[in-house]
Amino acid sequence: MMGRSLLLADVHGNLRALEAVLNDAASHGGFDRILMLGDLVGYGPEPDECVELLREHPLIAVAGNHDLGAAGRADLGRFNPDAAIACEWCSRRLSISSLRFLEDLPLRHVEAGLLLVHGSPRDPIWEYMVSPYIAAQNLAHCAEKHCLVGHTHQPAIYSMTGSSVEVVSSSVALDGRLAVNPGSVGQPRDGDPRAAYAMLDIARNVVTFHRVVYDVGATADAIVHQGLPRSLAQRLHTGY
Ligand code: ZN
Repeated sequence: MMGRSLLLADVHGNLRALEAVLNDAASHGGFDRILMLGDLVGYGPEPDECVELLREHPLIAVAGNHDLGAAGRADLGRFNPDAAIACEWCSRRLSISSLRFLEDLPLRHVEAGLLLVHGSPRDPIWEYMVSPYIAAQNLAHCAEKHCLVGHTHQPAIYSMTGSSVEVVSSSVALDGRLAVNPGSVGQPRDGDPRAAYAMLDIARNVVTFHRVVYDVGATADAIVHQGLPRSLAQRLHTGY
């Protein structure tokens, strides 16, 4: 059993944010492996670099909607216009090796006690797990004790039995059956522009949430420089 798993989601091609998170995690006790909950690419200006950097580490990853969009496995008509433009841009920008890697990502990963999906257990790609109610509706679709999700870009922790769980405190014991969302590395949407990640420490039975400052302005400039929609640069400054 791996001791410390670094939980990442929604990196979205933001290399500066990813580097800041990896450095912060390394300097706070390190990690044995990365559990990546989808959307490695899309929106951000360095998709290929992010895929390559993640692949340098022990990595278990599942597919997000943007990964499938960039790899030609999802209908771009389901994306908002800016997201669809970014998916098309990614398809052209990614190396063959990175495209193959995204193409081959599973929709789910199951191991002892854990289910990894991007969206939710019953709809691994598209459903947003945004409330204890939705988490409870997914209980029957998750045979594992805990479920790890991304997609909403907001750090959160929900009880899958529908009882309320404190949403985002810095450290939460893994009691009961929980759905954990580490928040987004590359495009946070909770009003805090800092990169988000979580650390799952199975040995200590605890998950901790972290935020890290990175050079938002430089990533925003790179988005504009690449000719991607300006709104994708602007939203990074406010964290929405
Ligand atoms: Zn996303």
